[in-house]
This record gives sequence, structure tokens and C-alpha cells, in this order.
Amino acid sequence: MKKSKMLELSLTKEFLENIAGKEAIKLVGFCKNKNKGFTDEEVAKKLNVKITEVRAILNRLHYRGVACYQKTKNEQTGWYSYTWEIKPKRIAELILESQTEEIDKLEKKVDFEKDYVFFSCKEKCDNVPFEVAVQYQFKCPRCGKKLNSIDNKKRLKEMKNQIELITKELKQLQKNI
Ligand SMILES: [Zn+2]
Repeated sequence: MKKSKMLELSLTKEFLENIAGKEAIKLVGFCKNKNKGFTDEEVAKKLNVKITEVRAILNRLHYRGVACYQKTKNEQTGWYSYTWEIKPKRIAELILESQTEEIDKLEKKVDFEKDYVFFSCKEKCDNVPFEVAVQYQFKCPRCGKKLNSIDNKKRLKEMKNQIELITKELKQLQKNI
């Protein structure tokens, strides 16, 4: 997969938004295809975002190791300038790490729910397993209304679809590592 495709994955977008906000997706999209480093001024101008905002995003990305910088001193003015770089490999690694756990959690949920029938009242107070429903003589422990069994096929299907989607995107991301 071309590296530029990585940003089209929903997992990548979601990840960047979570760690550094919505503008981070645009920023990374602009910066990661540059062979050379970039400055915060350059990005601010290009994306039409305040420079303070660009710096805030870069700092958040830096905190997670997704962006790094080189500091150079201007001998004449004595000021420092920062050249930034984005690390696509690190993005892929972080997503893989967290989403592998997510898949694991979802699979456990699916495994658990497929073997159990759950009950709920029409107020939808709580989903309770069969054992609990019996204990309460099929009356909601919270509101006392009648408990009915829930059809969890739809929920299971949704979870399975999600697992499938994540797995598919992770395979794509793996090519960036
Ligand atoms: Zn209830």
C-alpha cells in the first residue's frame, strides 16, 4: 500500500483526532508526504490555521512520538528554529497496539453474548442474564416491570462487522511498519 493511503483508513483518522484533534488529520496529511521537514509557519499558512493551534497540535503529536523536531540555531539572530517531521510508522504501530486489544475485547464480548440470553424490561433499565431474571421472577430489578428476552443477533452482527473492519484496516496498516 502506498503510504499516502494510510490516512484514508478510518482507524487512522480516529486515532489522530483522538490524540490531537480534527485539524491533526489535515496537518498529518499535508506533512507526511514531504520528504524534507517542515516548519510550523509553513503549515499554518498552508492549512490556514493559527500558528498557536499548529504548535499545540504538533506538541500533542510529539508527546505520542508521532511528530519529532530538529532544533537549529540561527547564528546571526541567536534564535532557534524548529524543523518538524511526521513518523507514519509510529502512527501505524500505535494503532496496531490499541486496536489489537480492541479486537480482543470485542471477540470476548461476542463469545460471551452468543451463549447467553439476556432480558430487559420495556423501559430498558438494564440487560440481565437468565439467572438474574429467574431470581427476580422475570420482573425488572430496578422498575419491577416485566422482563422479556432480547434478541441480540443484531448486536452480535454489529460487533462481528466491527471486528472485520478493524482487522481489514490493521492489515493495511501493517504494511506501513
Ligand atoms: Zn426496568
